Amino acid sequence: MTMALHGLGVSRGVSLGVAHIAQRHHLDIAQRTIQEDQIENEVQRFRGAVFGARTELRETRNRIPRSTPAEILEFIDAHVLMLEDGTLTEPPIQLIRELACNAEWALEVQRNRLAAVFDDMDDPYIASRMDDVDQVVARIQRQLATPTASSDGERSDYDGIVLIADDIAPADLTLLHHEGLAGLITEFGGPLSHTAILARSLKIPAAMGVRHARQLFREGEAVIVDGERGIVMADAPKTVQTYYRKRARAFRAQQRDLIKLRSKPAQTRCGTRIRLDANIDLVDDLKDVRQGGADGIGLYRTEYLFLNRADPPSEDEQFETYAEVIAAMGGAPVTIRTIDVGADKPLQGRGPRSGVPINPAMGLRAIRLCLQDLNLFRPQLRAIVRAAAVGPVRMLVPMLSTPQELFQVRNLLKATLRDLKRDGFAVPDHVPLGGMIEVPAAAIAATTFAKYLDFLSIGTNDLIQYTLAIDRIDDQVSHLYDPVHPAILKLIQGVFDAGLRSGTEVTMCGEMAGDPQYTRLLLGLGLRSFSMHPGHLLEVKQAVTETDIDALKDHTRRLMRASNPLRIGAILREMNEL
Ligand code: PEP
Ligand code: MG
Repeated sequence: MTMALHGLGVSRGVSLGVAHIAQRHHLDIAQRTIQEDQIENEVQRFRGAVFGARTELRETRNRIPRSTPAEILEFIDAHVLMLEDGTLTEPPIQLIRELACNAEWALEVQRNRLAAVFDDMDDPYIASRMDDVDQVVARIQRQLATPTASSDGERSDYDGIVLIADDIAPADLTLLHHEGLAGLITEFGGPLSHTAILARSLKIPAAMGVRHARQLFREGEAVIVDGERGIVMADAPKTVQTYYRKRARAFRAQQRDLIKLRSKPAQTRCGTRIRLDANIDLVDDLKDVRQGGADGIGLYRTEYLFLNRADPPSEDEQFETYAEVIAAMGGAPVTIRTIDVGADKPLQGRGPRSGVPINPAMGLRAIRLCLQDLNLFRPQLRAIVRAAAVGPVRMLVPMLSTPQELFQVRNLLKATLRDLKRDGFAVPDHVPLGGMIEVPAAAIAATTFAKYLDFLSIGTNDLIQYTLAIDRIDDQVSHLYDPVHPAILKLIQGVFDAGLRSGTEVTMCGEMAGDPQYTRLLLGLGLRSFSMHPGHLLEVKQAVTETDIDALKDHTRRLMRASNPLRIGAILREMNEL
């Protein structure tokens, strides 16, 4: 029976795939009795799933880019070994034969036996390896589930697996992407969460905030994810599937059409040249940056290099990765943001203190953490400064809230330049230093920050979160997340004015900069440098080329005076229709 649920569309595109339900607990697997004459078929089904899991992992390993941390490769190798060694995979075969039970159940029984053995281990490290067993078991279970959708012989029509989870960490999403994840449905999470931003960057159609999705969908059934409208469907009739396939094709055609704009300058009708940079999370994003014709990298979120691993990357590893990005940009500026970990991107082993009800978004994250842990921060500073010898690099500091933090970073940067010169590295005399304006205090005191920094970059994702007190990862309040709230517009305007007064460049790298419905408004307010997800560059460029900034004055003035959201919405629409 067809079922449709509604959530928040967070990553555009449509995916028609096969549901895989991420099970937090192992209670959902049911025991079934297999007919005597089907037992050997069941054994073969199990063997096929183990084989499929192994092939999948090997292919993942081959596809993984060179820049991937060594720990991830070791982690994949360990899982392959587990699939090759019979401890996990032989006993279920015996159980299928002895109990005439289904393969899923037999595997679960063996998993529980191993869990009991691990539980008895005194060594906490060895005991923690049960997580690996669970991941391998989940992989085999996924394989066992997959044939259901192929039974109608139309498996080739599906884009791949659609993961249905309660929530998923950005670090896990990068791993699943390497495995070819086709779509994502989560029960919790909002469009500004880092998982959503990453899904957009990885082009995985996604819907979030789809409550009870894990109970309502069945493993292996055909699902549709409409990542634009947030609609997800199971067992949709042929007509609906055809509609969505058409929409997917139209979306691709529209994207292809925009390619024409790639080599055109981002210039308004009145002749103002606008800078359009790209945000990147991973080195892999560079192909989209080229596709989008970016002027440079306005935000390189380096924290993704630090996730999914036990130890941070060394100075050399960081240098090589940054140098790869800089070389690929062929002389265009690259803005490297120092690590912004914490909140929804925790470093392994450094989550919030357990048992204490704290808000991690307001806790020890980003520059606060770096200044407290110089062993983590110094290698990154050295790597960034060394990379500045390869091409034009700017360094960007996240989450500044006091000038003292800025002074500390400036001193550390100066000391790093001095040390590297002393050590014989050919480094430039100066690395431009910028600050993210994403905490209301920094926006209000923007004049002070502008005085001491080479550039300011407005991070609207956090600025809106902190100003409106709306958790960016909470879908329950995401309807209140409003980039054109009068308070936000006043803060943004204040930062632009501070930049103008002190002659400091102001750019914007939050999601608002990549949303074409705000392009004219931001141009009207004075923004001349935007940085966004590369997939949005051409749409924003289109909006730029269709705009006459002089004609926006009256609308901008009225919009800044309005306090009623309906009125603001109406003026924005008028502005976009000019
Ligand atoms: C922001 O907060 O707007 C921003 C660009 O940084 P991030 O999304 O990584 O927090
Ligand atoms: Mg931020």
